[in-house]
Amino acid sequence: MTPAIVVHGGAGQVEAERHERLRTGVRAAAARGHAILAAGGSALDAVVAAVRVLEDDPEFNAGTGSALTRDGTVEADAAVMDGATRRIGAVAAVPDLGEAVALAREVLEAGEHVLLVGPAAWQFAGERGFHPAPPGALITERARARLAGAGTVGAVARDAAGRFAAATSTGGTNAKRPGRVGDSPLPGCGTWADDRCAISATGHGESIIRAALAHRIAVAIAAGIGPREAARAALAELRALTGREAGAITVDATGWSAIQLSATMPVAWVDGDGAGDHLGDRVP
Ligand code: ASP
Repeated sequence: MTPAIVVHGGAGQVEAERHERLRTGVRAAAARGHAILAAGGSALDAVVAAVRVLEDDPEFNAGTGSALTRDGTVEADAAVMDGATRRIGAVAAVPDLGEAVALAREVLEAGEHVLLVGPAAWQFAGERGFHPAPPGALITERARARLAGAGTVGAVARDAAGRFAAATSTGGTNAKRPGRVGDSPLPGCGTWADDRCAISATGHGESIIRAALAHRIAVAIAAGIGPREAARAALAELRALTGREAGAITVDATGWSAIQLSATMPVAWVDGDGAGDHLGDRVP
C-alpha cells in the first residue's frame, strides 16, 4: 500500500500573521513522519515522530507552548494508538511533561495499562528515563497571554504494510482547571486507530468527548463511507449537538481528509502524490 501521513496543528481561530509559521511547522512534522514511512517504518513510529516535532515547536499548544491551566501551570494530555494491534497508550494531566506523546508510547509498549494520569504518572515516567521540564521551560509568552487558542497537534498515518496509527498531544484548553482531561488522550474521542483507519481530532474537548468523534468517524468508515464524508458527517453532528468548534484528520486505505468547523486548522500531508499543506477544509 502507498504510505501516507497527515498532520494537524489544531482547530481554531489563528491570526493571519501566524499562518505561515504554523504551515511551516506542520510541513516539517509531516516530512519527519514520512521519512520513516518511506524507509519502510511503521505508521506507529511515524505518527510519534511527527507529533514530537510539533511538541518542541513553540507555535503549537503541545509540549513547549502548551496552554496553561488557570493556576499558570502546564499539564499534558496525549495518546498514541496502533490500529493493527489495537494497542493504545495515553497520559493525561501530567505536569511539566514536554514529550507527552513519547510517554504515551511508553505506556503502550509497557502494555500493562492504557492511561496514566496526574503527577503520579511521573513514577512510571521516571522509570522510563523521562525528566520534568525545568520550571517555566514549557511556558511561552503567547501561552501566558492566553493566546494559545487551539493548537493541539496530531498525526495519522498508513504504512506500506497497510497498518494505521494515530497520535495526538495537547496542553488542553486555555485556563482549564488543574486536573481537567480533554478528548486527546481518550480512545475514540480525540484519538483512534483500527485495522481500517486512523483519526486525530482537535477543538473543544468536552464536545468531542460527548460526540465520541473519532470513533464515530471510524464506524462510518467501517460501513464503507469515505474519510471525507465520514468526518464531515461526524463533525456536523458534533456541531448540531454542542455548537462548538472541532476538526479531525482521517486516513484510510482509500485516501485521507482534513476537515474542521473552525476558521483554520493547519494541515500538512505526504502521500503517493507528494507533499502539500493548507489551512484545512471547512465544513460549510
Ligand atoms: N482538544 C483539545 C482539548 O480539549 C484542545 C484543542 O484541540 O485545541 O484538550
